[in-house]
Amino acid sequence: MAGSPTTNLSLARRSLDAVWHPCTQMARAEHVPPLAIARGEGPWLYDAEGRRYFDANSSWWVNLFGHADAGLNAAVKRQLDTLPHVMLAGCTHEPAVRLAERLGARTGGALGHVFFASDGASAVEIALKQSFHSGRNLGQADRREFVCLRNGYHGETIGALAVTDVAVFRDAYDPLLMRAHIVESPDSRLDNEAEALAALRRLLAERGAHIAAVIVEPLVQGAAGMVMHSPDYLRAVRAATREAGVHLIADEIAVGCGRTGSFFAWEQVDAAHWPAHWPDFVLLSKGITGGTLPLSLVLTTDAVYRAFWSEDAARGFLHSHSYTGNALACAAANAVLDRFDAGQLEANRAQAAALAEAFAPLAAHGRVRHLRQRGMILAFDVEAPGERFSERFHLAARRHALLIRPIGDTVYLMPPYLIDAEAAHFLAEAVAATLDDVLNRAA
Ligand SMILES: *Cc1c(COP(=O)(O)O)cnc(C)c1O
Repeated sequence: MAGSPTTNLSLARRSLDAVWHPCTQMARAEHVPPLAIARGEGPWLYDAEGRRYFDANSSWWVNLFGHADAGLNAAVKRQLDTLPHVMLAGCTHEPAVRLAERLGARTGGALGHVFFASDGASAVEIALKQSFHSGRNLGQADRREFVCLRNGYHGETIGALAVTDVAVFRDAYDPLLMRAHIVESPDSRLDNEAEALAALRRLLAERGAHIAAVIVEPLVQGAAGMVMHSPDYLRAVRAATREAGVHLIADEIAVGCGRTGSFFAWEQVDAAHWPAHWPDFVLLSKGITGGTLPLSLVLTTDAVYRAFWSEDAARGFLHSHSYTGNALACAAANAVLDRFDAGQLEANRAQAAALAEAFAPLAAHGRVRHLRQRGMILAFDVEAPGERFSERFHLAARRHALLIRPIGDTVYLMPPYLIDAEAAHFLAEAVAATLDDVLNRAA
């Protein structure tokens, strides 16, 4: 290939030969060749032929400040010239310590102990292990069952998949997975929070003594298709789990870092009553480095931490990853936190309002159902969308300079925090035009 100019198709061809793409049936990818992206700037991605696309889903929800952000890049470059990496067993470094201190402070000290990993699924594994192992250390080894919500998503390693209820990801591996309890999930479209809560309470009453933890995606179940519920539901789940002596794990891998209107989604549960209302574990990843480097974190309480405190090595939490606490990634995360210290949440409120205003007319579209929004997440369902809607929408959107991947029949936006009135109107128009293309061609 050397010598010939790179075109979208030439790079896509080489990619299909050599790269096994994630979340992709490769036989289908022949018909939907990957876009060859050459560079990014702000919310825009540029393909190999110079066309641009608005990254409406922040590249799987990670690029909070778009692409090639100068401030994040400068922080990473500074760290690169100082100390890119050192192992975190037997050593420590300023970026990791500072990041852990700052995140703990954002929970009012309720979750003051931070364990580092490199991806979301690993953070889920760590929380499950810490929950079980802390109980075991305290003489409660019987607590080895986990509870997750219907359609919940927590990652795709074997342990994380066991608490994930998304059939396309899970079914093939089902024989390998530990058995978790799956309970009804609250869904604003169904108005079923009371029933969902009653189902959880029944399970806790029956099996509570055997359950280590309940894991939830606070406020918005992302991969389920942006399924939303109220802070009241979460407050009741916290009370019920506390009463049953069961840990609560808040997976904020998608909803953390300002996405839903507060830095942690959980802050909306009951800000006035910190720290009593915090979960036992909060997980972050995705947006925490703004799409620069892989990093995930598990924040937990003094009580969990102290359960491992012993002269006996086997009672310690020996879990390790080669890149745990990577200094470059921590430096990037500190630069992300700087944005929040400098008023990012107020900016996001204005941006969320701009999105709401621009998309409001879409509610009147004959095929649009349940237009919903929480902070910087906006979604709607499409009625009778026809075969392969998601794929057709994705392809049609490219022609409107939009990069977007619906989940099933649900179109959603999780854009970078770079939305002004003009960007909001561009997005609303591009989404509406794409929708009409796709529905008219299906008809
Ligand atoms: C993406 C995601 C994960 C998994 O994170 P990976 O980095 O992809 O392993 C877990 N939980 C939630 C809620 C997520 O959105």
